[in-house]
Amino acid sequence: MEKINPFENMLSVLTATAEMMGLSESDYVVLKYPEREVKVAVPVEMDDGSVRVFEGYRVQHNSARGPYKGGLRFHPNTDLDEVKALAAWMSFKCAVADIPYGGAKGGITVDPATLSKPELERLTRNFTERIAPVIGPDKDIPAPDVNTNAEIMGWIMDTYSRLTGAPRPGVVTGKPIEIGGSLGRTAATASGVCMIAKMALRHFGIDEMASRFAVQGLGNVGGLTAQILFDGGHKVTCVSDVNGCVHNEAGLNITEIRDFLKNGGKLNEYKAAGVEQLPREAILTIDCDVLVPCALENQLTGANADKVQAKIVVEGANGPTTPEADEILKNRGIPVVPDILANCGGVVVSYFEWVQDLQNYYWDEETVAQRLTQKMELAFKAVVEQADKYNATLRKGAYAVAIGRIIAAEKIRKSWH
Ligand code: GLU
Repeated sequence: MEKINPFENMLSVLTATAEMMGLSESDYVVLKYPEREVKVAVPVEMDDGSVRVFEGYRVQHNSARGPYKGGLRFHPNTDLDEVKALAAWMSFKCAVADIPYGGAKGGITVDPATLSKPELERLTRNFTERIAPVIGPDKDIPAPDVNTNAEIMGWIMDTYSRLTGAPRPGVVTGKPIEIGGSLGRTAATASGVCMIAKMALRHFGIDEMASRFAVQGLGNVGGLTAQILFDGGHKVTCVSDVNGCVHNEAGLNITEIRDFLKNGGKLNEYKAAGVEQLPREAILTIDCDVLVPCALENQLTGANADKVQAKIVVEGANGPTTPEADEILKNRGIPVVPDILANCGGVVVSYFEWVQDLQNYYWDEETVAQRLTQKMELAFKAVVEQADKYNATLRKGAYAVAIGRIIAAEKIRKSWH
């Protein structure tokens, strides 16, 4: 299969939206290029005494609206083009959420499942040292993404603090609560996905409680999205992860499935009354009402978009739908709620965490939840307004919001002067 380049995908949506908005090339050309791309070699002593060198990246796309912000992913397929696309999407996402950040992304090309815990810690700490010159609480603030978590963020906070001689909780978000993390950050992306999914269902007149949800991915985003839906009495009829896909038209017991996986079970070995095992790609084309891809990019493509049976797609993952698939889904009347809107709840609570760190004053869970809801509602409204204005898809509406806000800041600051 031909490799799909996510950065090219980003550029094609950016260009199409800028044209739709009637912008000239000079208005938005800076957004086509990341401001800085850092590639580092990260040496690690393995448990057997040998030394291996891993490749890592930090790409800083745009800083017109504030310090760079975005996650770090540890994945064997992570490469520069992927990180570049993800960095640009962070600039757009922070603008859609209207939080004062630019966008960045980083990663290491590694399968963390092949490392021991001490190896993973050494890798993280050495990577932090290598990118330390370009990150910082007022420069660029990393966060969790695919295969990274609060514990890893804690190692980053500690390494950066040691290097700079004082505790610097604001250098990274998604940290453990004990060292300056925010209440509500772990579930924030998933909570936001659920809120936006419900707003979208209401907007398109689809009955939320009668809807069958299919969730691809059972990590921090997919697992918690499925859980929140299940806890809220919604019917989750299909879930998948790297190992498999399970389906039950009567609804799956998500708590039981997540416990089974936590205890070392594999999804393709999960058995329960009424549950059928399917190949893992089946999730994308299963008969359901709401498809929520929460895994990696390029899942819905020209090869399968014509077989999607959902009434609506809500992107929990970053970049799960290619432009070709977008076009097919649009022509088939299946709305796609774009990643930069649907999954922005994570970075919104990252922003809240950073604000709390900078003020050394911590909020209760209710305050976080309330402010998150408010941000998500405003973001949804802004996107729908632009989509309506241009009679365009929600993706183009979201890009229009983002591009409009970023170039407004660019025009004041004039980075080209
Ligand atoms: N990795 C998440 C995302 O893609 C969160 C980024 C952040 O909190 O900075 O939105």
